[in-house]
Amino acid sequence: MKMIGLIGGMSWESSAEYYRLVNEGVRDRLGPTASARCLLWSFNFADIAALQHRGDWPALTTRMIEAARRLEAGGADVLLICTKTMHRMAADVQAAVSVPLLHIADPTADRIRAAGLRTVGLIGTAFTMEDAFYKGRLADRHGLHVIVPDDEDRATVHRIIYEELVAGKVLPGSRDAYRAIIARLVERGAEAVILGCTEIMLLVRPEDSQVPLFDTTALHAAAAIEMALSG
Ligand code: GLU
Repeated sequence: MKMIGLIGGMSWESSAEYYRLVNEGVRDRLGPTASARCLLWSFNFADIAALQHRGDWPALTTRMIEAARRLEAGGADVLLICTKTMHRMAADVQAAVSVPLLHIADPTADRIRAAGLRTVGLIGTAFTMEDAFYKGRLADRHGLHVIVPDDEDRATVHRIIYEELVAGKVLPGSRDAYRAIIARLVERGAEAVILGCTEIMLLVRPEDSQVPLFDTTALHAAAAIEMALSG
């Protein structure tokens, strides 16, 4: 079994899910006492969020590369960045190591296309909804048409992530807000919605949407297991 390297702590709430998912996945495939071989690098998210909101992407890139190199030196055979937002510097991270970085967009896009869907709603941090690093990959590499919420709804989605979900707060009122935002994406033509932040599945469940939801945390972890158990 290959060693999975998780670049996490962004936030630890979702890293805990990744850790659970890769272990459950290996157990399901190899038997009740089997578990994943993995390494976890876990940042202090307060430092990361401060740099993000200051727009200091060069400093964040340096940190991601350092984490990736340390995991590679520790024996990781495949790397995952356990957050959507920090895929902004995925190409720089991949260029700095010789092991593969499993991009979070690809397993989700493959699953959406396999389901015969093309127009997808995307909710995540403002960085993910507004910048090109994730939406662009879905469009350019996978041919998906991506719809994001309007300004006010994007602000709501972003605020709930940074004020609540990364702090482990799962509030019914916020679930209602996400439900309404998802419904507006569906009205605008979304055939499915990507939960495009690795904590959103803590709040939103399939029953909160009229269209299929794609949980990128689960799909990313599943792809990592596939890679770890291949060859
Ligand atoms: N985990 C979130 C994401 O997937 C937000 C935390 C972060 O900004 O890294 O984007």
